[in-house]
Amino acid sequence: MRKRDVEMEGERRSARTVNVGGVVIGGDAPISVQSMTNTRTDDVSSTLRQIREIHNAGGELVRVAVPDRGAVSALTRITADSPIPVVADVHYRYELALDALEQNIAKLRINPGNIGGIDRLMQIVARARENSIPLRIGVNAASLEKGIREKYGGATPEALVESALNHIRVLERMDYFDVVISLKASDVPTTYRAYRFMAGKVDYPFHLGITEAGPPQRGTIKSAVGIGALLMEGIGDTVRVSLTSDPVEEINAARLILQFAGRRRFGAELVACPTCGRCEIDVIKLAAEVENIIENVEKPIKVAVMGCIVNGPGEARDADLGVSGSARKGVIFRHGQIIRRVPGEQLIEAFREELQKLCAETGIGGEKNQRNGHNSGFQ
Ligand code: SF4
Repeated sequence: MRKRDVEMEGERRSARTVNVGGVVIGGDAPISVQSMTNTRTDDVSSTLRQIREIHNAGGELVRVAVPDRGAVSALTRITADSPIPVVADVHYRYELALDALEQNIAKLRINPGNIGGIDRLMQIVARARENSIPLRIGVNAASLEKGIREKYGGATPEALVESALNHIRVLERMDYFDVVISLKASDVPTTYRAYRFMAGKVDYPFHLGITEAGPPQRGTIKSAVGIGALLMEGIGDTVRVSLTSDPVEEINAARLILQFAGRRRFGAELVACPTCGRCEIDVIKLAAEVENIIENVEKPIKVAVMGCIVNGPGEARDADLGVSGSARKGVIFRHGQIIRRVPGEQLIEAFREELQKLCAETGIGGEKNQRNGHNSGFQ
């Protein structure tokens, strides 16, 4: 079972709520974490396996691509066995969107700019309403309508917002308000400004993401800058980090961004010193070992790994538990005070014991966190 989280306090944009298969997006609901499978959707067993990996990593919603009839047919079995609500993603072929809306999906994501015109959009909205299924209007810089692109001289924030507003007006004229919005560009400032601009114009909840962010390191940093900045301004109701990597990595990155932006808290936090000329221990190795151990902790404690006994405990006095020392002599400390000295080779074992004690004292123990998965991300 994945670790529970603690919702953080802070000003949050007021958005209406949309219920996606039991996961509420918007309002005061926790900002949900989602990813997208990259298996062939018509390969039901592989897709379900990946959905379970996403779920075990902490994913609360999952999106699957629906590019053809085989994918539509697979949706019934996928939605029946998925442990989390399934969102269908349809581009270009409105007839697939109509059929997907009959397959027990929790939400449909479309980009109205590529779905074939207002008449077809209206048919999709009518079917969504018949079946009580919310829609995500996902405007994407790369597929912006030609007229709007020309009017603004490119995929500017204003252009993205105008495109989304035009689509939303169609939905509103049909008295349909069960909508989540995204305004994605691969460029961080454009995405950031588009969401901020939109935040002042509508009260629909926002799905945040930087599209095509790239391989894990670049993609995570890029997403953290854009999504993190918006989250800290109280903007954003669900997050998808788009990495060219395993979808499980997207979940891990999204959870960390939410945690570091102060919007949710998932288990223990690790701080580690950057090391300097006073360092007496292999902090990189020690931090990796400690990080591995605290993955099993669900309590929101702070743990520190510091490079020297002289300065480390004091520098990390706000940590609930810390380790430091040299190759020969290790110490465990709590809030800056050394509570135990052990031979260097016993440091990790001593840390594990003290962690258990701390968790027992506070009444909350560790919980196994399963993380598996393969494959690469999309959008
Ligand atoms: Fe340097 Fe020690 Fe501070 Fe680490 S804890 S940065 S080794 S002084």
